[in-house]
Amino acid sequence: ANIIRLFNVTKRYGGKLALNNITLDIEPGEFIFISGPSGAGKSTLLKILYLAERVSEGQIVIDGINLARISSQRLPFLRRRFGMVFQDFKLIPNRTVFENVALVLKVAGKNPSYIKKKVMHVLRVTGMEKKANHLPPTLSGGEQQRVAVARAVVGEPSIILADEPTGSLDSESARRVLNLLLGYHQNGATILIASHNIAQMDCFSRGRNISLEDGKLKRISTILC
Ligand code: ADP
Ligand code: ADP
Repeated sequence: ANIIRLFNVTKRYGGKLALNNITLDIEPGEFIFISGPSGAGKSTLLKILYLAERVSEGQIVIDGINLARISSQRLPFLRRRFGMVFQDFKLIPNRTVFENVALVLKVAGKNPSYIKKKVMHVLRVTGMEKKANHLPPTLSGGEQQRVAVARAVVGEPSIILADEPTGSLDSESARRVLNLLLGYHQNGATILIASHNIAQMDCFSRGRNISLEDGKLKRISTILC
């Protein structure tokens, strides 16, 4: 069974065609790179899966659930299955790093001692432990990006969507973030990473590269290194 299915998905912003008739199946546990130049539709593809944007035409089915039929009450529960790293991070500016990451577990009803342990663990792995009590606007872009990644993975979601998750990072931090995502992949998570620079990405033997151009699916290839 496929975990993510897109049938003839088209997305327009006003008259602008951002995704053009995309049909795609993704199996559980796949590691997918979405590549293509700026403006190709990579962010839009991730945003429609997260239901941050609605499709104009076509259908999306996640784990057997048709997103067109999901009620607004059930939307938060579906979103909990996803970890999303937004390109612009979307951190809450007046909450500390710790609180930003902890919020995911609080709304999921986890107990405070578990939350503390788990949040400090992902902050340690992303190298943000020492900044736990800082506010996001006081951090560099790379640090904010690492917090955004920590927040996306802390709830151990079955699907991780990451929009240019290493775009603001030096090569050492980028490697740490990719290794972190790879660890979740090895534990069974389905991972989609959008990047305009696939050469920057490490080799993942089980990966597929989905290449977009002008909103169209240009090529699907297995990543061979
Ligand atoms: P990528 O992530 O590959 O850079 P995007 O998905 O961000 O591409 O954008 C695809 C196309 O849709 C681009 O032409 C972009 O300008 C346009 N677009 C994206 N978001 C919006 C928006 N909110 N309103 C209007 N056009 C948009
Ligand atoms: P991403 O997170 O992929 O960068 P953005 O929302 O930043 O997506 O926008 C990507 C592209 O879409 C940019 O080129 C931007 O100029 C364009 N865009 C974003 N929002 C709008 C909008 N409301 N109207 C027109 N173009 C937009």
